[in-house]
Amino acid sequence: MLWGMIMSKIIVREDEGEKLDVELERSVTERNKMLADENRRILDSYKVRAIDVMGATGSGKTTLILQICRRLKDRYRIAVIKGDLTSSIDSDMIMREGVDSVQVNTGRECHLDASQIRRALEKLDLSNLELIFIENVGNLICPAEFPLGSHKRVVVISVTEGPYTVVKHPFMFMDADVVVVNKMDLSEAMRVDPDKLVQDIRRVNPRAHIVKAICRDGMGIDEVIRALDL
Ligand code: MG
Ligand code: ZN
Repeated sequence: MLWGMIMSKIIVREDEGEKLDVELERSVTERNKMLADENRRILDSYKVRAIDVMGATGSGKTTLILQICRRLKDRYRIAVIKGDLTSSIDSDMIMREGVDSVQVNTGRECHLDASQIRRALEKLDLSNLELIFIENVGNLICPAEFPLGSHKRVVVISVTEGPYTVVKHPFMFMDADVVVVNKMDLSEAMRVDPDKLVQDIRRVNPRAHIVKAICRDGMGIDEVIRALDL
């Protein structure tokens, strides 16, 4: 009988929480959406395009942004807004590339929100910019719920995250314009079938542009640039 108890599947459903929590959460996301719309109006008034890059820690977000900046920094005036809990490793790397970077330390928050982006925009000379990359905190869950006002959303996943990244985090992919399947060179070692990941992405978001890439080596970068209309 003990076995039966151990093996039985216990599920805590999302809707078991108090209604109060749900309403609080709704007001937070609604307020964020308003601020995101305002960010978009500010960006548009300066004719600055913003691209939000999301994905787990270690998936390759910074490497992707660096590779794109290398190819585009003579064509566009670019800045990078970089969200991290506490570190500035990524923004230091980006500055070494000769691209301006604003670091947003989110403290304990596991995602960037639109108000933080607003404050970052205030620190940038928007009249002197054409393109902004926003690197979100490494996280495949809540950034999906917090639009920032960007024009395009990119999600980076790596085959090293295993075969279930997409099926376990479907919401992250629904609004993505471009999904990068990174570290293709490691797929065999990881025994992860990248085509299965592509199928999973297609299922939740048929309109996303999917690019197989090895960001560190530059493979797929030009395709990402084209997919972003840059
Ligand atoms: Mg990074
Ligand atoms: Zn979060």
